[in-house]
Amino acid sequence: MKKYKAIFFDWDGTAVLSRRAPVDEAAEAMRPLLSAGTKLAVISGTTIENIAGGQIEKYFTKGQLKNLYLGLGRGAYNYAFEDGRPYIFESVIPSKELALDIHRICFDIHMELKEKYDYDTDIVFSRPNYCKIDLMVSNVRGDQLFMQENELDSLKQELKRHGIEGGMDSLIKLAKEKGKEHQIEVVPTCDAKYLEVGISSKSDNVNTILSKLIKESDIRPSECSYWGDEYVGLENGIYGSDSFMFTEATADGDFFDVSDVAGERPEGVKVLGGGIRTFLDFLLTQR
Ligand SMILES: [Mg+2]
Repeated sequence: MKKYKAIFFDWDGTAVLSRRAPVDEAAEAMRPLLSAGTKLAVISGTTIENIAGGQIEKYFTKGQLKNLYLGLGRGAYNYAFEDGRPYIFESVIPSKELALDIHRICFDIHMELKEKYDYDTDIVFSRPNYCKIDLMVSNVRGDQLFMQENELDSLKQELKRHGIEGGMDSLIKLAKEKGKEHQIEVVPTCDAKYLEVGISSKSDNVNTILSKLIKESDIRPSECSYWGDEYVGLENGIYGSDSFMFTEATADGDFFDVSDVAGERPEGVKVLGGGIRTFLDFLLTQR
């Protein structure tokens, strides 16, 4: 495979099996690349505490960390490392007022689903820049936080059973509509369990980190690749969270999906399957 100067990748389900799974194998595959000057960027919806137990810097030397970036929290935080410590070089955090409005928007979504369709949801409010609406309250993901194959069908059935026509598309529309009622343009995303509503996405992370790389080194967009396990289309036109790595700025890069889940991907995404094994083997061949 082509050698890339920068590799952007999702964490849970792409580089590690779960948040509690050992990080050693991923770190081992990353080290030689970081030493050789390849830029690696972890692009994850989660926050830094959930990446290698909040201690990712412990796995690398100060020199290696100079080539590592973290784009976390659905566009909220972008980290680089200095003197072996992570620091935020750019962030998209809503003001308290805006955050409260996002909470209100999500509560409105919850209310409408309950009132009109008797559809139960739970809302996680404690994220810094978005809320997470649990659409499958009876289905507990446990330690495996990424999307499971049967979840898609379960959600679709559940929506139908409650008379929600138009599936997830209608949920995305509902979120945008409720946002507009509060004069906010929200960026809703949906996987098979959660409807997430915020003002940024993985698109903001990749755009921010890519522009830093372009500014500070000789890397071109065509020399980058983007890896994830959630590109798959949940419905026509609605793709998974990793598809947000595909933006106008990143479009010249190469996109790879390590998920085996059947379904459509956005145009240009190459499906390799094989899960984390595929991604870690790719890293090993990039040395
Ligand atoms: Mg994932």
